[in-house]
Amino acid sequence: MNALAELRKRASTAAIPAIPAIRAGQRIAESRESQESQGVKAETRFSDLPPAAPTDTLRAHLLALAAAAQVDPHHVHRMLDPDLADYAGLSDEQLTACLHMIADTADRNAGRVPAGDTAAMHCTHCGPVYIHPDIAAVLPVVDGLPRGLGCPWCFVRKAGGTVPSALVSRASAQPEPTKS
Ligand SMILES: [Zn+2]
Repeated sequence: MNALAELRKRASTAAIPAIPAIRAGQRIAESRESQESQGVKAETRFSDLPPAAPTDTLRAHLLALAAAAQVDPHHVHRMLDPDLADYAGLSDEQLTACLHMIADTADRNAGRVPAGDTAAMHCTHCGPVYIHPDIAAVLPVVDGLPRGLGCPWCFVRKAGGTVPSALVSRASAQPEPTKS
């Protein structure tokens, strides 16, 4: 399943559908600020490419973006050609955000906490889990811990995968670091 289809599916089923959009928007904003600060001119879009751009060209473009964003190129190589068409018209910032989400989803499916998910929340269904600080920031806090009716790990749990428990203390409810 490609990232866009996955996003649509998750948006239609998740209890907190705004999260992927918030996260993508945050990354887009961060990326844009970074580019502006470096004086880089406006991004290219797939729509700027010739109409009959072969999927090899699209894939090469995604591979270049993945390299720049330090995303494992494996995620691009395993995309099916028909899925690549879904990415046409997206800006480089949007594509990079999609690549990060694809990598994060692959991490969660493998039972690994994504590197940027350093905050903790209590999911009604999954219990204490690690999430991105941007998500934690928009959730209501109960007993010192952000809480939600769903989380980015719910689809892993439903599929029978491994959901690592976030280490939280009752006293402080502060998230522990996931990796050194
Ligand atoms: Zn959950």
